[in-house]
Amino acid sequence: MLHYFNHQPVLRILNLSMLLVLFIPVALHAQQPQTITKKGYTLHFHAQNPDFDAAQQKRLIDVFFTNYPKLVKDFNPNSLKEVYITIDTTYDGVAYAHNGKIVIAQAWMEKMPEDIDVVTHEVMHIVQAYPARSGPGWLVEGIADYVRYKYGVNNEAGNWSLPALKDDHHYKSSYRISARFLDWIENNKKKGTVKKLDAAMREKTYTPEIWTNLTGMELDALWDAYVAANKA
Ligand SMILES: [Zn+2]
Repeated sequence: MLHYFNHQPVLRILNLSMLLVLFIPVALHAQQPQTITKKGYTLHFHAQNPDFDAAQQKRLIDVFFTNYPKLVKDFNPNSLKEVYITIDTTYDGVAYAHNGKIVIAQAWMEKMPEDIDVVTHEVMHIVQAYPARSGPGWLVEGIADYVRYKYGVNNEAGNWSLPALKDDHHYKSSYRISARFLDWIENNKKKGTVKKLDAAMREKTYTPEIWTNLTGMELDALWDAYVAANKA
């Protein structure tokens, strides 16, 4: 009897300490949704997996606060002041942005941990804020990658660069291929073209004639000149 009663509290203590050992470290290291406000901008960051790498989370947040305020200032001062980033455990693409909300695939960040400028590309979509049917999709993505090329903080380590021109490229190829074309226009035809294209799409004044108005050349002629100047 005595033995029996003596054992009870010991077992209880043991059980409690086992629970503490098992669960407290998890609770301490789990990533909680974070809300950070800096320089008038608020970021809500939520990694769905509580075990998402804390250092990686900090790097992504830092890219946001480094580049979003700059892009707002340089392209669209009326951009949203509050942005959401979710690290999604089930999304099987890379990332997307819609209405101030950015979704990044956790699987992508695990595969490409240095690709933190995915944030730079996606926040530019928030800055763009183009109304529906405001311009060609290749240009929307071309501008976002041009911006990543110009403002990215880790492109080299992320093994991200603008690819050399190839025969099967076209300005409509989108993303980095279009970005390289835009960079060539900036450097060789008319500086400031990207900012004007961006503003025109936001104001819904983009027309195919804008290329001639801005650079003195039609879009297809610009591409031909770009190809001629960049052939190996
Ligand atoms: Zn994009």
